[in-house]
Amino acid sequence: MFDKILIANRGEIALRVIRACREMGIASVAVHSTADADAMHVRMADESVCIGPPSSSQSYLSMPALISACEITGAQAIHPGYGFLSENAGFVQMLEDHGITFIGPRAEHIRIMGDKITAKDTMKALGVPCVPGSDGGVNDVDDARRVAAAIGYPVIIKATAGGGGRGMKVAQDETGLEVAFRTARSEAKAAFGNPDVYIEKYLQRPRHIEIQVFGDGKGRAVHLGERDCSLQRRHQKVLEEAPGPAITAEERARIGAVCANAVARIGYAGAGTIEFLYEDGEFYFIEMNTRLQVEHPVTEAIFGIDLVRQQIRVAAGLPMEFHQDELVINGHSIEVRINAEKVPSFSPCPGRITQYHAPGGLGVRMDSALYQGYSIPPYYDSLIGKLIVHGRDRTEALARLSRALGELIVDGVDTTVPLFRALLEEPDIQAGNYSIHWLERWLDRHYS
Ligand code: ADP
Repeated sequence: MFDKILIANRGEIALRVIRACREMGIASVAVHSTADADAMHVRMADESVCIGPPSSSQSYLSMPALISACEITGAQAIHPGYGFLSENAGFVQMLEDHGITFIGPRAEHIRIMGDKITAKDTMKALGVPCVPGSDGGVNDVDDARRVAAAIGYPVIIKATAGGGGRGMKVAQDETGLEVAFRTARSEAKAAFGNPDVYIEKYLQRPRHIEIQVFGDGKGRAVHLGERDCSLQRRHQKVLEEAPGPAITAEERARIGAVCANAVARIGYAGAGTIEFLYEDGEFYFIEMNTRLQVEHPVTEAIFGIDLVRQQIRVAAGLPMEFHQDELVINGHSIEVRINAEKVPSFSPCPGRITQYHAPGGLGVRMDSALYQGYSIPPYYDSLIGKLIVHGRDRTEALARLSRALGELIVDGVDTTVPLFRALLEEPDIQAGNYSIHWLERWLDRHYS
């Protein structure tokens, strides 16, 4: 096992990893930009190293700075968290060359899944059902027209290098196709430096259902059920829950086995998430994330498993601590993402936290790096906390969420907390009756 791990991240996810390290008796090293000198992850880690100025590209994304920090502190492994360098195959390669262990899958698997066309081809070959669409990339408008006509409108044009909900354009019919195609390509080029796009059937009212998988890197893998992340704004998740309110035990077992089998066959190591759209009882693969997800705590809650601990163990060459038949779901869990944002514009709202009080009590977990007097810097993601509740069933989880939101105090900046209070009043949310379009429509009705 490692003696010391460096966490190449900040905010709540850095704390999350530090906590797992501490329980395992592993020393932790925080890295930070000059803007984060007073951040909680720096205070909580055993050691810290300043790795550069505020801009992420010169600090949290700086591979040489991170490697130097490992060399200075003697850290043997890096946990990347999510975002930043967590899905960068070049980084994994560079760490290998320096004898530092990357806590995550092999570079090869990150590379395959990082290109969505290759990811889809690979998954299809492994028996995973995919959204109907183009075979590979689509290079010109004529090609796009042919594919769209064959699969039927509406269609969605997506960047093969896409991520974070960017680089996607919907065409309702042939008239809109050319503009959608050209805009998607130029946005993809601008955002990801790669204009390649592909086409999929645009599903009308799917749910976003993702399967948590975990592999030991030696051909054994399990699944930890699904999360329903259908409540989205601009393709970004806002609330997640597990198990999915619309998924039956049979469906879970079936698609879970398909996913576990797929990752076992490629010898995948560590945590991964296979994302699907789910409509009329069918699952359609959209992408795989080769890292820990923001919403992993809802899975941890219902299985009672520390996923970060398992990631660290597998990276150290140890086996997973469970078999598929030991993974039994207990109750229901919901997570809400608390962002420092003004609702309804959702524009970032950095600033000083004048008062902070975290909720507590049975079944309540608050993952946040906030503290009273902390100043949220304007340079990074607006996620400032995740409130996760666990109950014996969905009704209890909802009541607990409402109670916990009532206890939470975050003063000094605008947050998405009032949005969640309002959403909990909605009969559709109470009933678990929502698709990926529900939230956008609700926001339109409430704020226009
Ligand atoms: P990203 O990597 O940018 O997150 P994804 O492929 O995971 O992109 O898609 C993000 C979200 O976009 C999905 O959760 C869903 O809401 C929407 N989406 C993607 N593909 C489709 C599709 N074929 N039909 C309908 N919605 C889609």
